[in-house]
Amino acid sequence: MNDTRTLREYDRKHIWHPFTQMREWEESDPIVIVRGEGCWLIDSLGNRYLDGVGSIWTNVHGHAVPEINQAVKDQLDRIEHATLLGLANDKAAILAKRLVDIAPPGLTKVFYSDNGSTAVEIGLKMAFQYWQHKGRPEKTRFISFRNAYHGDTIGAVSVGGIDIFHAVFNPLLFKAVHAPSPYCYHCELCLEKNHADCNRECLNELERLITANANELAGLVIEPLVQGAGGMIVQPPGFLKRIRELCDRFELLMIADEVAVGFGRTGSMFACQQEGVTPDIMALSKGITGGYLPLAATMTTKEIYNAFLGEYREMKTFFHGHTFTGNPVCCAAALASLDLFEENRLIEALEPKIEYLSERLNSLSKLQHVGNVRQCGMIAGIEMVRDKTTREPYNWEERVGMQICQEAKNHGLFLRPLGNVIVVFPPLVISLEELKFLLDGIETSIINICG
Ligand SMILES: *Cc1c(COP(=O)(O)O)cnc(C)c1O
Repeated sequence: MNDTRTLREYDRKHIWHPFTQMREWEESDPIVIVRGEGCWLIDSLGNRYLDGVGSIWTNVHGHAVPEINQAVKDQLDRIEHATLLGLANDKAAILAKRLVDIAPPGLTKVFYSDNGSTAVEIGLKMAFQYWQHKGRPEKTRFISFRNAYHGDTIGAVSVGGIDIFHAVFNPLLFKAVHAPSPYCYHCELCLEKNHADCNRECLNELERLITANANELAGLVIEPLVQGAGGMIVQPPGFLKRIRELCDRFELLMIADEVAVGFGRTGSMFACQQEGVTPDIMALSKGITGGYLPLAATMTTKEIYNAFLGEYREMKTFFHGHTFTGNPVCCAAALASLDLFEENRLIEALEPKIEYLSERLNSLSKLQHVGNVRQCGMIAGIEMVRDKTTREPYNWEERVGMQICQEAKNHGLFLRPLGNVIVVFPPLVISLEELKFLLDGIETSIINICG
């Protein structure tokens, strides 16, 4: 029953995979993961793959970590689930306190859900309703960035800006204002002049759009420091601070989507902390349980929370909730993960790894078909281009990124690209030795596919 052939057959016959052309999948022999060990994934045939993308940007402490396993087991023996609709539970309460302690100052309220899309969706609804309660019912719209990714539910897609994912759903979406992305590698300004000019233009255009729409804007949504699914696009220093100032000046709630960058990924616990910024609303998910279980939190300020207080008949309640909100097993995993951050001084330990990553990226950038290379902490994006000088991109249909990641399997790596960008997003506990293995494998795979 459990042999690889049978497992593959059941999968191909019955599972509809996310973001996957299933005709191709049905013709493939998928790797079937059955175990994990540290930063390694182990398949049904006993092959080992270094998890180069941290199980889609979630994994912090590695797989099957004894401390988190124990916390989950202990919690299961007490209780598996109790609802937050009408009850409190110990783990959810303790975790809320712990999150507030480590978050940017002022974010003192925690609304739980179970994935990144809902965490953002909740932020949007909170911001929208906040202005209703504040007597500014005309503030109903949102401004976000091209190339942004905030999740796949309808509201999150509405503020997203990746055409290849989002265009088909256009008729279903609410109309957001889309500002230019701080991504400029292929833009004319950047080619002709320089990066700094381009970033200034980007902020000027943002300010123009906000000024033109300020009266009806409820909030601004941003992935702080790095646009993830858009291709690991790193913002210039000072960008986020400037966004905070604009939000203050024009009375917009700043919604920071830290779903990908939260929990140490950029070299600080939260990305906003690198610019000393407290957003009005912060969405967290992927790394919150160390990549163990589905959990999300939307954190906000007392100011916003207080706007929802009133007599029941005033209808100020936030009518939103999910069935598994604040699940104690997920919260127990998150607490164990936070303990490990402290015990292993994980964030301090990132420094030499970030430096090593940067050295290796620097030498990778000299390869013939490597274009822009971007890094922020333990995130990197290596953009493949047909022509290094003119920056002519590869056609997206060629799927050079996917070819490189396929090749990487032969070198013991599991990678998942974003178009023609090779993503590096390993578990934060990765050792220097494993990081070397990862970058050696990426280098060889790039050379084997592109030359
Ligand atoms: C992954 C991601 C989301 C969506 O999270 P899901 O758990 O997949 O719904 C939202 N925002 C960002 C920045 C993400 O990277």
